[in-house]
Amino acid sequence: MDGGDVPGSNETSARGETDLITLGRRIRHLRTAHGLTLDALGEKVGSAPSLLSLVENGRREPRLGLLRSIAEAFGVPMSELLSAEPPSRRAALEIALDRAQRGPLFTTLGVPAVKPSQKLPMPVLEQLVGLHEELARREQLAIATPEEARRANTDLRLEREARDNHYPQFEAVAEQLVKAAGYTGGALTHRTVARMAEQMGFTLLHVDDLPRSARSVTDLRNGRIYLPPASTPGGHGLRSLALQALAHRVLEHDRPRSYGEFLRQRVEITYFAAACLAPQFVAVPFLEARKRDRDLAVEDFRDAFGITHEAAAMRLTNLATHHLGIPLHFLRVGADGALFRGYANDGLPFPQDVTGAIEGQLICRRWAAREAFERRDRATEFYQYTDTPAGTFWCSTQTGSMSPSGGPDGGSGAFSITVGVPYAHAKWFRGRATQVRRVSTCPDPACCQRPAPELTERWSGEAWPSGRMHQQILAALPRGAFPGVDDAEVYAFLDKHAPA
Ligand SMILES: [Zn+2]
Repeated sequence: MDGGDVPGSNETSARGETDLITLGRRIRHLRTAHGLTLDALGEKVGSAPSLLSLVENGRREPRLGLLRSIAEAFGVPMSELLSAEPPSRRAALEIALDRAQRGPLFTTLGVPAVKPSQKLPMPVLEQLVGLHEELARREQLAIATPEEARRANTDLRLEREARDNHYPQFEAVAEQLVKAAGYTGGALTHRTVARMAEQMGFTLLHVDDLPRSARSVTDLRNGRIYLPPASTPGGHGLRSLALQALAHRVLEHDRPRSYGEFLRQRVEITYFAAACLAPQFVAVPFLEARKRDRDLAVEDFRDAFGITHEAAAMRLTNLATHHLGIPLHFLRVGADGALFRGYANDGLPFPQDVTGAIEGQLICRRWAAREAFERRDRATEFYQYTDTPAGTFWCSTQTGSMSPSGGPDGGSGAFSITVGVPYAHAKWFRGRATQVRRVSTCPDPACCQRPAPELTERWSGEAWPSGRMHQQILAALPRGAFPGVDDAEVYAFLDKHAPA
């Protein structure tokens, strides 16, 4: 039997119905194999041909007595009739088509159904079933739940951690393009970015009416990349946005077909932009020299390449393990203690939800990423050793804040950026001499999640806070060609700006 590979034939939601359809097809298969008409079979089993037809079409459940008679007429055991397996590839396709046409998705289409009869040629049947399968798949994508989005995000993080967040192919293409545009070292200028765009056939244009749901819009027909007029607070975001827009072309991205693919493209364009802003052939010698001097510091790396503290910290994760042999972790944490973004290939125990996602989880109050908020002097990085159940880590944290309207990735308010390493690697970093040391036993609730007993005694039953709604992380996305982007807004925008 080769009928088992028809998509969705084991779906449980339509189980009863499917089994009736399969049963009907098995009976029809046996009848035609025996060269019997409906009338002839009806005569043998003492039943009306019209009833048998309903049974064969899965529209009527046969009584046990009738089933027994049919089995006897064909000389097969009852179990042969009741097997869940379609009797042939053709029958499997007929069942799949029948079921698709009885589903809720099909009824919304408003097109006539096709009777999956013997007269339907196999290629037509194959194509119809294929189309129904694709239609169902696309419907699934459009209704991807936040949970699916979180799972896709987690898969990507785990993959990056397994590869030490280092992607040689993006490093190579970035290096080649910045060199071709005349870059030799230091901060990549906006002029050089514009030259890179030019060499790829694009003009960078700054407009103040970009669609709110898009960070940049590329007009492929007219070779234009539209960007916001000014940098967002906290950053040298414009060069990065332009590079990310170029990255979609450089990396030959197609329209994302799933949320996972959308996220992967985001990771790739961010990586490419970072690899252009701090190219490996300049950044690695810089970091190696600092390591030799035991004076590695994210702030120096940031200043040498004119990038944000967060970009520098993230870029360090691309290069430090692969080139310097240093495992490390990165965290961006809000003032409320919720993790916005995290990465670790050094064994730091992130809190996780049931899906394995770490975003939105409250991290330990004792970690540097949160302790740093308590500090008055925030001009320099804050250094701390933290003893955890997974060992001792040294961390360096910088705090900052976004404008109330939020940053390019939706973050807002105060946040902290942390880079940390296991104890044994602290020796390469500035700030290793810090005397600050904390103990974290999280996820043990006694660590920092439970209020102190004396406070509980004083306030239990006397406190009535009104909760704040939590910022949605990876919320459901609007339908459209690009997840999260309002197509109508984008097309209207392009139309308005396109050259006559
Ligand atoms: Zn804790």
